[in-house]
Amino acid sequence: MIIDVLSIFPSFFSGPLNESLLGKAISQGLIRVRVHDIRKYARDKHRTVDDRPYGGGAGMVMKPEPIVEAIEDLQKESPRGTVILLSPQGEVFTQATARELSGLPRIILVCGRYEGIDARVLNFVDRELSIGDYVLSGGEPAALVVIDAVSRLIPGVVGNLASVRSESFEEGLLEYPQYTRPRIFRGLPVPDVLISGNHEAVKRWRRSQALLLTKLRRPDLFERLKLSDEDLELLRE
Ligand code: SAM
Repeated sequence: MIIDVLSIFPSFFSGPLNESLLGKAISQGLIRVRVHDIRKYARDKHRTVDDRPYGGGAGMVMKPEPIVEAIEDLQKESPRGTVILLSPQGEVFTQATARELSGLPRIILVCGRYEGIDARVLNFVDRELSIGDYVLSGGEPAALVVIDAVSRLIPGVVGNLASVRSESFEEGLLEYPQYTRPRIFRGLPVPDVLISGNHEAVKRWRRSQALLLTKLRRPDLFERLKLSDEDLELLRE
């Protein structure tokens, strides 16, 4: 998969893209991330990418020309790529969106700054994504969130595919609690069932914990679940 990023702060990405799972996925060629400086597409000698808003008001707005020309330049390559604008006004990015994007050959992520981007740019964008109901100073942290969540769904990026499948939101549930050594920490023991060696009991316990946690903390997710007879039984226990 190819991920192109358009930003006026390309150096924002240099650290995170070289670290841990993402860094490894990139160095192994499982994903290709290319960060492009929007300023390169500015026409004037000062490389201006913003201007005052029509109608007045605070702050500056990103000009349409450099962004659209950058998108068009990138789309000369094949595959053309799905253009995604990071924006607080977009549809909310979820695990389902991440899974959907992970199946695409190429995405182009556009990061806004200042008060946002000239609205006409939306005519050149396939979709707008928000990472949540809060306002960031720029689209760069949001792009990193998308890159991270999408990459871990690409085969080979996370060593154990089963661990990705059981993670929070994958089945519409929060994940069950996890424990590691020591068996007792500051008087707090690991649940007996996890050291019982009974795989079926562990499976049932994990499913019931995931169901209970989701019911308690995310009733919105719980309401949408299609519960099996076994799930209903676990919830009654
Ligand atoms: N004036 C805009 C508003 O009130 O909706 C906010 C602009 S914000 C300061 C600058 C840029 O940060 C946006 O163009 C967008 O690219 C990015 N951004 C901010 N919050 C975001 C969010 N929740 N999800 C995705 N991108 C976001």
